[in-house]
Amino acid sequence: MKFISTRGQSPVLGFSDAVATGLAPDGGLYLPEALPHFSAVDLARFATLSYPELCFEFLSRFATDLPADTLRALIAKSYTTFAHAEIAPVVKLDERTYVLELFHGPTLAFKDFALQLLGNLYGHQCQTRGQTINVLGATSGDTGSAAIHGLLGKPGVAIFIAYPDGRTSPLQERQMACTGADNVHALAIDGTFDDAQAALKELFADQEFRTRHRLSAVNSINLARILAQCVYYLWAYLRLPAGVRDEIEWVVPTGNFGNVLAGWLLQKMGVPLRGFRVATNQNDILHRLFTTGDYRTGAVTPSLAPSMDIQVSSNFERFLYYTAGKDPARVREIMATFKATGAYTFENFDRDTFTASRCADAEIPGLIRTVYQDFGYIADPHTACGFKGLAKDRPSIVLATASPAKFPDTIVSAIGMEPTAPSLEALKRKPLMKHRLPADASSIRAYLDRHAV
Ligand SMILES: *Cc1c(COP(=O)(O)O)cnc(C)c1O
Repeated sequence: MKFISTRGQSPVLGFSDAVATGLAPDGGLYLPEALPHFSAVDLARFATLSYPELCFEFLSRFATDLPADTLRALIAKSYTTFAHAEIAPVVKLDERTYVLELFHGPTLAFKDFALQLLGNLYGHQCQTRGQTINVLGATSGDTGSAAIHGLLGKPGVAIFIAYPDGRTSPLQERQMACTGADNVHALAIDGTFDDAQAALKELFADQEFRTRHRLSAVNSINLARILAQCVYYLWAYLRLPAGVRDEIEWVVPTGNFGNVLAGWLLQKMGVPLRGFRVATNQNDILHRLFTTGDYRTGAVTPSLAPSMDIQVSSNFERFLYYTAGKDPARVREIMATFKATGAYTFENFDRDTFTASRCADAEIPGLIRTVYQDFGYIADPHTACGFKGLAKDRPSIVLATASPAKFPDTIVSAIGMEPTAPSLEALKRKPLMKHRLPADASSIRAYLDRHAV
């Protein structure tokens, strides 16, 4: 299987090279040249597989340049770090309401699904190519900690994660800055997530710098992340009751569009997922897009669901590629307009597949309380956004993207109870090691020049 850039001006690559490259040199994102198709016969056969076996069946259609045994071993290793036997348990709240719990990985958020695997893919690559890699990413919280825990202590790999100082939760920061591993660099940036992201984009655009440090991205645009995330939709689909699964709405707490894109791609591969609700917090660029067709950046307002505090949805470009008729020239044109004006108006969206909801910050504690009262279930602030406006005409499955234990203050204020997790308790006792930097590319560049492997 080959992978192409959404902007059509980069070399076509195999799986391993596309994963190692991250952002394509033309500024686009990698996608499979053609999507595989999963038939009803395939799905019936998949129903009895364990999570790692299912993941292998799925990824082996894409990672055709890796020997099967290698891929199988990398996947097995990636999911042994999860604390739940089912890996991604489907929890039934009532006849029409389900939760897909995606927070049983080492950093207690859904990004572990992709980043445990990506970390092992990088480790494998360093070994077979005898090269070092420097991984650079920006995070609004969960991506950074998940990336760090994917790469922690891997020989030949250093990881640099820039995050907005003071805008992640204290526990998220501790997950990044208290690992004690000397290949981990937590960079606390004086600015927003988008400032950090913009500085990194500039560094990735500098070919000389990028090549010299063998830079790689692990932010949400890496191809392997999207593919790894398809697997839990498939897993959950196979676990839902037969009368429910073809009708259910997949409710996805959304920031960068990565999570919901994975579900949508799986639908394009023939798995009959009925539709998606794009659930945003008050940073609602995607809500506006899916309700009005207007794609327009605004200022980021920090919220109780910080991992969704995003106003530019980098993964959206992959969706755009398909809606623009797989025409890279159209994609380049639309992205150029968006870059120049901060806005673009779309005419025809698949309204049958996508609905959207927006959750104001003030509503989050009330939603946490209602979910607890109605179902006895504790939803974290991100997941709570998904519980706003559950469909009346069909069942819903809400993707629980983080553990409530990561956001104790909000949960306590909502229901007067403090959720805990053993891995977080241990973190509170470790020393914090962060490096404060201004929000500009040159400061981050200088830091990397000193610390890259
Ligand atoms: C990253 C994250 C999201 C948003 O995911 P996207 O792929 O950016 O849409 C939602 N909830 C939590 C807890 C997250 O960490």
